[in-house]
Amino acid sequence: MSATDRPVVLRNGLVLTMDDAHTVLSGADVLVIGDRIAEVGVGLTAPDDAVEIDATGGIVMPGMVDTHRHMWQTAMRGYGADWTLTQYFIWYYLESGKLFRPEDVYAGNLLAAIEAVDAGVTTTVDWSHGLQTPDHADAAVDALEAVPGRFVLAYGNIQQGPWQWATSPEFRDFHRRRVDGGKLAGFQLAFDVTGDPAFPERAAFEVARELGVAVTTHAGVWGATNDDGIRLMHEHGFMTPSTVYVHASTLTHDSYNRIAATGGSVSVSTESEQSAGQGYPPTWQLRHHDIPVSLSMDTSVWWSGDLFSAMRATLGADRSREHLEAHAKQETVTHCHLRAEQVVEWATRGGARALGMDSAIGAVTPGRQADIVLIKNDASPVMFPILNPHGHVAFQAQRGDVHTVLVGGRIVKQDGRLVDVDLAAARAKVAATVSHLRETMGEQAWQRGMNPDIPETDLLENPYQYTEWDAGSAQWKH
Ligand SMILES: [Zn+2]
Repeated sequence: MSATDRPVVLRNGLVLTMDDAHTVLSGADVLVIGDRIAEVGVGLTAPDDAVEIDATGGIVMPGMVDTHRHMWQTAMRGYGADWTLTQYFIWYYLESGKLFRPEDVYAGNLLAAIEAVDAGVTTTVDWSHGLQTPDHADAAVDALEAVPGRFVLAYGNIQQGPWQWATSPEFRDFHRRRVDGGKLAGFQLAFDVTGDPAFPERAAFEVARELGVAVTTHAGVWGATNDDGIRLMHEHGFMTPSTVYVHASTLTHDSYNRIAATGGSVSVSTESEQSAGQGYPPTWQLRHHDIPVSLSMDTSVWWSGDLFSAMRATLGADRSREHLEAHAKQETVTHCHLRAEQVVEWATRGGARALGMDSAIGAVTPGRQADIVLIKNDASPVMFPILNPHGHVAFQAQRGDVHTVLVGGRIVKQDGRLVDVDLAAARAKVAATVSHLRETMGEQAWQRGMNPDIPETDLLENPYQYTEWDAGSAQWKH
């Protein structure tokens, strides 16, 4: 995958290896040869033709992994900033999702993929549930293959039941053409389990089993999916260690027990759960059940594809909940359970494990793929002192501090600039999609979709509200 075939050495960085011991090395080098990490240590000897990158003052860490992102929706960036899940479902599932043509899926995916590598997210699961036709699916993959990141296609189609699309000859044909021997980093089936006692989703699970691929599913989403879906999956033997449960925030202990016992993992999208209403971000529950966690950003129709914000929001939500539960019992939390080091682990190794790629990515250790992020910004007052490296990544650094990114040994961003990426072309394609949607919907529907009504706020009785300040006498009037 190396563009230059030259070795690369990052010199004198603070290296967060994210190996099993979470070893941190200061003043250390990382040597990359071909697509892999060759050596990590102090004062390494590099081949004469190596590209030297000065990591002094910076943090070197593994490329981050986002396990759930509806990349096609990036063409609508920020449109749904004030939505709840209700508006999202109406807009995409019922009214306007079907307006997306293959070129619109391409445009969204292209921008999302560029955004991911720019932010140091070297592996992203494209939870692609807008694949209405094989042409849409081809367009999705074309875009992912045009950007030098690692992408797992999670194939879905909200316009049909999974028992329809997953069993179609067109889907089989697509899988044969684009997945077997293609450039994708992986392939999953993406669909939700409604809880219908007839369990029509069985046919799609059987396809996943036959193809030997994982299923990723929005589970425990308030008002949409619940314990019935988990129970049906479990009773029919379709919960496996490779299953990824997205959100898993409105579930009972019984469902968490079934997830834990079958070895699956949860993709937590904290910013999404907080704003959209799937349920409280579940990390505080998951730790009691010892369920593995990865992080995700869900959709840029609200948020960006930035895992720094995922780490930050996840720490905040977990600690918020812990304090709130304690205060309700008149107790004080003196020691937080969730640590910054843990969310950095979730953003790297957690994602790698969830995708069954832990031996290949997720850590800066010899032999692994060279997916590496250098966080360095000499012009920023926030880059020193670096006293608590994991805390610095989670709470201090941000996407603008991503200086250099390697994917499989290839430099895809250097000195804060993307390498060999045509951002202008992506911008033009996204602009064409926005024009298409806006014109097809009409201006009124476009504006209405973006600006949901604000419910009235009930003003509480206030016994003090009839006093007012009299400036003349400088006294309160009664
Ligand atoms: Zn989602």
